[in-house]
Amino acid sequence: MVQPLPDSQLVYAGWYDDQKQLVQFFGRIPSDRLLISGGFDTIKTDSKVWLRQVTLPVYQNGLLIGYLQAAMPMTATERALAEFRMVLAISAPITLAVVALTGWWLGGLAMQPIRHNYDHLQRFTADASHELRSPLTAIISNAQYGFLSKSTDLEVQHQRFQKIFDIAKSMSILVNNLLFLARYQGQLPTESLQVIELNHLLVQITDDYATQPDAQHLSLVCKLPNNRITVLGDANLLRQIVLNLLNNACKYTPAGGQVKLQLFTQSHWAVIEIIDNGIGIPKADLPYIFERFYRVDKKRSRQTGGFGLGLAIVQQIVQSHGGKITIKSVFQEGTILQIALPLK
Ligand code: ATP
Ligand code: MG
Repeated sequence: MVQPLPDSQLVYAGWYDDQKQLVQFFGRIPSDRLLISGGFDTIKTDSKVWLRQVTLPVYQNGLLIGYLQAAMPMTATERALAEFRMVLAISAPITLAVVALTGWWLGGLAMQPIRHNYDHLQRFTADASHELRSPLTAIISNAQYGFLSKSTDLEVQHQRFQKIFDIAKSMSILVNNLLFLARYQGQLPTESLQVIELNHLLVQITDDYATQPDAQHLSLVCKLPNNRITVLGDANLLRQIVLNLLNNACKYTPAGGQVKLQLFTQSHWAVIEIIDNGIGIPKADLPYIFERFYRVDKKRSRQTGGFGLGLAIVQQIVQSHGGKITIKSVFQEGTILQIALPLK
């Protein structure tokens, strides 16, 4: 072990002549480690102690007269290093674990909407395939029966073709609805919007719809304000909204009932309401009513020929106009569909 000089941090100090020969030395010479290289050196003694050694040339009147050498122990630095190593050994795994856990949690959080959309898309594809498969099977079986049957009865054959025609027509409506949903995603471009006077549009639609077989069994009323209410929109799409909602109201209101269409303003919104006193929707079904292919009573809708896409289309059009849609319904009492569009 190298002995430090008394009352000093120095382990040793030495004086060398200009030929680098040792002249005087204080402390214990660490034998073979004695080197005179000039400047700073870090050396390890035989007893495994690290030293920092400095050797400086000394000049007198510009002439080199010798070298002064001193060494100090590096115990303080070594201790600090050891402490630092220990802190690193403890904190690095903890930090890594925290980072990994946070990453895992954030990843899960970011995946949630993607998983939701994926599930939604999967359900939609399954529903669409199912809706298309049933009529296709019916077309195939009707066509096969027509070919294989030896019947020469023209009336029977005509019925078969009529059935195929009806099914194909309903398939075409379904495909059009699906295309519609795929096409009108997001906000409409402003250049495709026109100024639409809703009073005029609603009168036109009600007059046209009143002559439809759907509306014959009930009273169809249209209540409009005296002032003109205008919005920015696509006339065909807005017509589609009102037609879909009138279609539902008439379809799901028994004979003798009433369907009322009204228009008014509320702060900076133009509000269209379609109110019926029909069969209503059970409370448990209301949260899902705007989902694609959702039908309250599948059997009932099948009889009325619905696919469960009408409200999904309405919601998408309303959103593409920057509007809002709300539904209030009491089972077996009636339904109110409210659409709010930003006033021009
Ligand atoms: P589609 O509109 O595609 O022909 P649909 O009318 O069955 O079929 P939606 O318009 O989306 O589909 O309506 C979804 C379901 O909501 C309907 O099946 C029906 O059960 C219920 N519903 C919608 N409007 C009314 C209403 N005014 N009164 C009672 N039930 C309604
Ligand atoms: Mg409908």
